[in-house]
Amino acid sequence: MPTVPAYSLVNGLVRPEILDLHAYHVPASNGFIKLDAMENPYLLPVAIREEIAALVAGATINRYPDPNPTLLKQKICSVLALPQGMEVLLGNGSDELIQLLALALNKPDAVLLSVEPSFAMYKMIAAFTEMRYVGVPLAADFSLDMDTLLAAIQREQPALVFLAYPNNPTGNLFGEQDVIRIIQASPGLVVVDEAYYAFASNSFIPYLADYPNLLVMRTFSKLGMAGLRFGFLVGGRAWLEQLEKLRLPYNVGTLPQLVVGKLLEHHAVLLRQADQIKQDRARLYQQLRDIKVVQVYASEANFLLLRVADATTVFSGLKQRGVLIKNLHGAHPMLNNCLRVTVGTTEENEKFIIALRDTLI
Ligand code: PMP
Repeated sequence: MPTVPAYSLVNGLVRPEILDLHAYHVPASNGFIKLDAMENPYLLPVAIREEIAALVAGATINRYPDPNPTLLKQKICSVLALPQGMEVLLGNGSDELIQLLALALNKPDAVLLSVEPSFAMYKMIAAFTEMRYVGVPLAADFSLDMDTLLAAIQREQPALVFLAYPNNPTGNLFGEQDVIRIIQASPGLVVVDEAYYAFASNSFIPYLADYPNLLVMRTFSKLGMAGLRFGFLVGGRAWLEQLEKLRLPYNVGTLPQLVVGKLLEHHAVLLRQADQIKQDRARLYQQLRDIKVVQVYASEANFLLLRVADATTVFSGLKQRGVLIKNLHGAHPMLNNCLRVTVGTTEENEKFIIALRDTLI
């Protein structure tokens, strides 16, 4: 029997929408000042690292992780002062939780709606899970275009709406009253994605008790734990008990569970780092505003969006000078000639500004 070439076998069997996708691209970053992925640039104090080392040394990694780490969940609820009666669902990063939500709601023809430009995974996960994706453009200033958005909700009746608050990659916080109107107008579930909550001035957690169709999603990735892969959903039991059924039993490993628990005991240290990042964001914003040929957008996250005359040339110029940021040109028509820079250490930011000025000459 002739062997079928692997590609024709794969092309015949894999779903066409997966064949059409491009895998989420993560560029090599070795040796660069890495300002492309919204990571916290600071390591932990040595004393805390030693506590972690001791915990890891004693970890029973021969056993499966605790499938339902109740104490860790309680710690999250108390350290983050989540309202009484709210529960948490733990994920291997919040990416996994987006996928769980889509898996739970992807009835035939169900719609996943978000705004554009926003976090790329909403659209990708809609494709993974065969939900119909609807992306509603933001207004030119990246605020919510309420008329268009409310009309789209009315027309599409989305089962699932994602709003990143603050939004990635634009960095702004949408109007609180606008988001409330969307929650009220939505026939389905609205997930407010607070990945950048540590750098923002507002949160929807206080509204959870008011709206049964609202869940809030958070991650510890931007707060200095990107390598642990740990996110959580906050909301009422009715939703979370259904989503729990879809969660794979050991989705959060023993080591992340232990280290997150330890870091929550040192939450104040992480918040101080976040405060430093917010101060440095303000300084970086001002420095960018002072460069005439750069348009910089105000941000409540740990990154800034900028627009230049030729983003690809600036991106390459920075790279040649050892600084890696994100080139968003081509990602969405509203992001023409846009770049996104993560706020790094004070020193990294200075090096970025020097490299940028040098590139723009
Ligand atoms: N939501 C938003 C808005 C994000 O920007 C990101 C990360 N870029 C995530 C969710 C995913 O975070 P993680 O999977 O690291 O928890």
